[in-house]
Amino acid sequence: MAVTPLLSRRFFKKQFPLFSFYSSFSTTTSSPPPPIRVALTESVGRAVFATRPIASGDLIHTATPTVCHPSSSSARAACYSCLAALPHSQSQGIPFCSQRCHQRSKGYYDVEMKANWVAFNDYCWTRGLKYPFLVKRLVCMVISGDARSDTLDILQPANLTPEMVLKMEEEFLLLRNAFTKALIADEHIAFLTKQWYINILARIRINAFRIELAGGLYEDLLASAVASVEAEAAVGNAVYLLPSFYNHDCDPNAHIIWIDNADAKLKALRDIVEGEELRICYIDASLDRNARQELLSRGFGFQCNCSRCLHGD
Ligand SMILES: [Zn+2]
Ligand SMILES: [Zn+2]
Repeated sequence: MAVTPLLSRRFFKKQFPLFSFYSSFSTTTSSPPPPIRVALTESVGRAVFATRPIASGDLIHTATPTVCHPSSSSARAACYSCLAALPHSQSQGIPFCSQRCHQRSKGYYDVEMKANWVAFNDYCWTRGLKYPFLVKRLVCMVISGDARSDTLDILQPANLTPEMVLKMEEEFLLLRNAFTKALIADEHIAFLTKQWYINILARIRINAFRIELAGGLYEDLLASAVASVEAEAAVGNAVYLLPSFYNHDCDPNAHIIWIDNADAKLKALRDIVEGEELRICYIDASLDRNARQELLSRGFGFQCNCSRCLHGD
């Protein structure tokens, strides 16, 4: 099945303190560390480099989402935690694919279930907004103690226009109201200020990945989707830490795929030598040069100077 790798991403200019990224790896203690290192470069800011030769087709590493959420079209067909397809029989019941997903989601799910989301959901669905759901999930995770409120601070934020900020204020009020009406104690949502909301959304805008599963389950999933207003062709959206540090190239040497859930698999597209920078393509690489430049500039705020673009390809 065709896979559309990621869509949204970011570009680093600022320097951030480097901290441990290993929380985003789904490796176990028995697996070797992934053959990469993240370093700051003068030309492109933060970048990911190979620490040993990697063969074409090899899995470089896997990353679990820091936060993810099903799209509106797969709301009752995908696991609310990992986005794997739910068995048809389960579409009206518990929205988790397994006991494991149910257990690990208990904290934020219990918080979410305390509030009434009708106004917030309607507002976002009618406008086709998907990122506010990632913020809602993150807020529930922070309230339940599953995440820190500064979890995404290390990611580069998008530049926002005053109009964008104005629109975000409405979503923010609906989100905040849902929690205050649910009688969540003030001290638990003290972090949830307008500025916090806008800062998080600015990061999600250019760092969220749009997930399409390659495991052959997605068509089933869409077929069972209930009330899919605009049948968005994605199972959901997610934000990762480490995968966000890969820079863009229109002729990339690595790509991201999702097989049957939101765990991202970074794979080599060709043989990579030790020390080479690993890059992925943020957009559809089959587009022509002008279309690519336009998308990258509008969506990510940079001009691509990869060798393909420099050669006019
Ligand atoms: Zn699951
Ligand atoms: Zn390019």
